Amino acid sequence: MSEIYDVIVIGAGISGSTIFYLLNKYQIKTLLVEKSADIAGGGATKANSAIIHSGHDPKPGTLKAKLNVRGNYLWHKWVEKLNIPFYPTGAMVVATEEDRQETIYELKERAEKNGVEAYIISGEEARKREPHLTEKTTMALVTPTAGIIHPMRAAIAPVANGIKNGGELKLLTEVTNITRDEETGLLNVHTNRGIFKTRVVINAAGLFADKIMAMVGEDWFKITPRRGEYLIIDDDAPLHVSTVLFPTPTPISKGILVLPTVGMEVMIGPNAENLDKPDTATTIHGLQTVIKGAKKLVPFEYEKWAFASFAGLRPTGNTGDFYIAHSETMKGVIHVAGIDSPGLASAPAIAEMVVDMVGELIELKEKPEWDDTYEFPPYIKFLPEAMRREITKAREDYGKIVCRCREVSEGEIVDFIRFTPGVNDVDAIKRRLGVTGGHCGGTYCLPKIMEILAREKGILPQHVKKSADKEKAFFVFVKGGDVR
Ligand SMILES: Cc1cc2nc3c(=O)[nH]c(=O)nc-3n(C[C@H](O)[C@H](O)[C@H](O)COP(=O)(O)OP(=O)(O)OC[C@H]3O[C@@H](n4cnc5c(N)ncnc54)[C@H](O)[C@@H]3O)c2cc1C
Repeated sequence: MSEIYDVIVIGAGISGSTIFYLLNKYQIKTLLVEKSADIAGGGATKANSAIIHSGHDPKPGTLKAKLNVRGNYLWHKWVEKLNIPFYPTGAMVVATEEDRQETIYELKERAEKNGVEAYIISGEEARKREPHLTEKTTMALVTPTAGIIHPMRAAIAPVANGIKNGGELKLLTEVTNITRDEETGLLNVHTNRGIFKTRVVINAAGLFADKIMAMVGEDWFKITPRRGEYLIIDDDAPLHVSTVLFPTPTPISKGILVLPTVGMEVMIGPNAENLDKPDTATTIHGLQTVIKGAKKLVPFEYEKWAFASFAGLRPTGNTGDFYIAHSETMKGVIHVAGIDSPGLASAPAIAEMVVDMVGELIELKEKPEWDDTYEFPPYIKFLPEAMRREITKAREDYGKIVCRCREVSEGEIVDFIRFTPGVNDVDAIKRRLGVTGGHCGGTYCLPKIMEILAREKGILPQHVKKSADKEKAFFVFVKGGDVR
């Protein structure tokens, strides 16, 4: 007889990861399954604005409003415990001469209803704080509790902690069906790697949460992929912002923002475009829209200084709110669906809510030995000089810079490969450390990264993969001019 789990979580995006983290506080057997080759490797969590929104924007009374505000509060605590890079930048919603000025007062009222700290400042004061803002700025709503986070590390740390506390993670494991075993009453989770038996299933499958709902007979819920495209601006550019800058919002999005990243570059985006099927390609039209929108807030030659682009897909549901509910057709299944923005900011509160719902299905007894902390390898780029010197004295490989553009050392790469939950491919290292994503596009660092990965995994460099869920390895040029 195969093992029986108490809870299986489907999807290791930010929702599944944080749910897994809190579940492992209890004396239960948990499994997190993810179809891609990495935590948050397959969905919205790896490509977004990375803002821990204050909660000023969602309509009062909605789940989004409630969970965003609580999520923001919890993230401020969790980033300390889980060692996640987070900058409490605050945010400003900026009105210009062309905008409807009343929107700022309406948003302030909304923020107050949601219990979010917010105040209005003049255009002059806004430009003192952010000198690159347009001269047309008339006033701004400030929300000091907003911040930016490293979204990948925000998902990795809770999973790593969950594993440390006894949970199990299976990557490259795609759920294909869920059925009830009539004899035992247990749920069968069918995957490409066999059937797993469990008492409870949590559907946190992002863009595909509606497909999982359909597997248990609920086909009324529909998700539309809503694409958002971004440009990253060269850090040599004569442009700096230290606050998240929003325009006044539109009915379907918070508008095109100008904001700092955790790597301290400037990023602009996203637009909002509903698609028929998932497609994360960037488009000329989309990026032009992004540039036009950003110029309205911060006039700048983005065309000249942009050096990278990417797109993410919001899993937008047809209810207009997050849909977090017990299945109506299959007892034991909980849906966490339609988690579009502000899903990242809300994640800790979503996790709390879901764990309470699990407690309605099975007994949850706390583990006396639960340890809620995680420690990433040192982030050398952001350490003060004295600490860098101390670390490199103890570990020589922390002094060897492999990625010059992003200033990443061999030691950091080695530790990310060795630390739980490890990495399987070059893309996973890129998502954690930014390597290959700088000016050189990987021409300088890629061969060295492949060599390190091969050495640590005990494989040949030509077997190192860009992405472990794709068949193809890199082409490797070997001595003598062969291409393998
Ligand atoms: C352009 C854009 C900007 C955004 N900006 C912000 C922001 O600034 N702040 C904010 O709070 N939110 C923001 N969001 C929203 C936020 O990114 C999402 O709400 C959040 O990442 C959703 O997380 P999730 O875990 O629910 O889904 P996902 O991250 O999509 O994770 C779902 C996971 O399930 C896996 N999966 C799917 N099907 C299966 C299956 N059958 N078997 C196994 N695994 C499966 C997928 O591979 C995926 O890894 C933004 C989103 C986008 C796209």
